Amino acid sequence: MNEIDRRRFIQHSGLAGLGMLFGLGGLSCAPNKEIVDPNGHSLGYRKLPKAKIAPDLVIKETVGLRPYRLSGACLKADKLDEKTIVHNYGHGGSGFSLSWGTAMIAANMVRESGYTEIAVIGGGIIGLTTARTLQNRGCKVRIYAKELFPNHTSSLATGTWSPAHLFCEEERITPQLINVWEEACRYSFRSYQNLLGLNNDMVQWVNHYVIGGKTHIEASGLHLDGLLPERFLLSKNKHPFREKQIVLEKTMVFNIPSYLDYLTREFIDRGGELSVQEFHSVHEMLALKEPLIVNCTGLGAKKLFNDDELIPISGQLAFLVPQPEINFRLSTPNGYFIPRRDGLVLGGNAIRGSWNTEPKKEVTLNIIKALNDIVQHMRA
Ligand SMILES: Cc1cc2nc3c(=O)[nH]c(=O)nc-3n(C[C@H](O)[C@H](O)[C@H](O)COP(=O)(O)OP(=O)(O)OC[C@H]3O[C@@H](n4cnc5c(N)ncnc54)[C@H](O)[C@@H]3O)c2cc1C
Repeated sequence: MNEIDRRRFIQHSGLAGLGMLFGLGGLSCAPNKEIVDPNGHSLGYRKLPKAKIAPDLVIKETVGLRPYRLSGACLKADKLDEKTIVHNYGHGGSGFSLSWGTAMIAANMVRESGYTEIAVIGGGIIGLTTARTLQNRGCKVRIYAKELFPNHTSSLATGTWSPAHLFCEEERITPQLINVWEEACRYSFRSYQNLLGLNNDMVQWVNHYVIGGKTHIEASGLHLDGLLPERFLLSKNKHPFREKQIVLEKTMVFNIPSYLDYLTREFIDRGGELSVQEFHSVHEMLALKEPLIVNCTGLGAKKLFNDDELIPISGQLAFLVPQPEINFRLSTPNGYFIPRRDGLVLGGNAIRGSWNTEPKKEVTLNIIKALNDIVQHMRA
């Protein structure tokens, strides 16, 4: 926790204490009642429904490969032969979160070129948001992609607001990278607010309880003071868990199947065209009819553009049968669950440099064990 956060927590607990003392609507801790801060903002509930977490509830296990780039996402324009190639790839564990922002930055580069007939290579979250952003600016766009949902990395993500998670190496953070990251982050954050309430709640706000560990934003050198809703320290009588103190923050969850479906439909409805096609070399790409190419190939860019900075960081997820009554996220140092429409999603592992996409039973069992250790001790 940094100094600003620490002061905020102290400030909040202090205010809350005063409010209770004078009966002015401070923190209430009556059983099952909503806990609110002195400003009337919800801090969640003292009691929460217990998730059912067991091996026989697992309906699907997946392993996705995060396209991690040591210096952060590649965003630049190159000239190759007669064509312009704008790169937008390498978002690591932050691709969903930063997608609209980096799409906007890539679209600005496209505008500078003056071209309006565009080939977007890649049909993951980065390709789709880039294509939609270009359409909104009047471009005619065709997406070319080897894989679509449910086979690309984007289909295999957890889907939460985590704009600094596994984004780059700490020692490679420069003032320029911070500027680009902040611009992308702010733009994406705003864009997601416009998607609330659409398409079977593909974007939702939920409470996130963090037990004994750092949250994604704390864990990295990239911070966003003032943009996200504040985090609160909850003391023992203000949450249902065994631990003395936990952190509560609000976070967004992206219901990935309905979200990707929505983006694809919007793209087609607005005149976009889609071709399933694999490119084995840059030369094959350069043969396309469109004069400008936006490269959104994620990990595919490693081979296509010889990018040595790009490495996979694998992540295994286990999906339990959907539990609609669980409407909060829980994170522990050894695993988390996230409430999605298509299942209660368990995850938390990250193996650097691994290309292996075979799920391992013991990984799922370890996460189940870690979460059960918390859930079984929740206040009834
Ligand atoms: C387990 C896990 C959890 C995650 N959780 C989150 C999260 O909670 N929040 C978050 O923000 N991010 C998360 N991420 C990260 C996020 O999923 C990625 O950053 C994002 O999906 C990358 O999107 P992309 O479009 O660049 O890549 P991809 O989804 O891999 O798409 C690349 C596209 O390019 C195409 N392509 C590649 N090479 C070629 C070629 N040679 N020819 C033609 N087409 C090609 C592919 O077929 C595909 O269509 C998670 C990732 C994983 C694995």
